[in-house]
This record gives sequence, structure tokens and C-alpha cells, in this order.
Amino acid sequence: PYVITETCIKCKYTDCVEVCPVDCFYEGENMLVINPDECIDCGVCEPECPAEAIFPDVTEEGGRWIELNREYAQIW
Ligand code: SF4
Repeated sequence: PYVITETCIKCKYTDCVEVCPVDCFYEGENMLVINPDECIDCGVCEPECPAEAIFPDVTEEGGRWIELNREYAQIW
């Protein structure tokens, strides 16, 4: 799955949310998150993010953020 990372914090764009075919974006405390259990790995959101905050979980950056994405997606 794809996950959202640090540069999303305080970003006010929601371009990524609009393109997701399965609506798996959620609002975290101060950033958006992706529910990695719902993401179908289509990759459509990644180029839409103006902050370049979206990474696949297999990358180093994405791997660091996956648990926080999962946690926030379930709380809100
Ligand atoms: Fe949604 Fe596709 Fe992005 Fe996953 S990769 S969050 S399914 S747009």
C-alpha cells in the first residue's frame, strides 16, 4: 500500500483524496493518512500530492510511517 509521510503536515491540499478510487484517506491529527489495509496500491494519488508526501510502504520513508497511518485511520 501507499502511506502518507511527514511533509503532509499542515498541507492544505486534498488533491490525493479526490482521486482515490476506494476512498481510503482519513484525517489524522494534523495530517491526512491512508488506511493501508484498504489501499489497493493503484498509485494514482502519488503524483497528485503537491507536497510529495505519499510513498509506497516498501520504501524506507513509507515503511517508517505505515504504523502511524494505520493507527490514525482507525481512530478517526
Ligand atoms: Fe487510494 Fe490508490 Fe492512493 Fe491507495 S494508491 S491511497 S488506493 S489512490
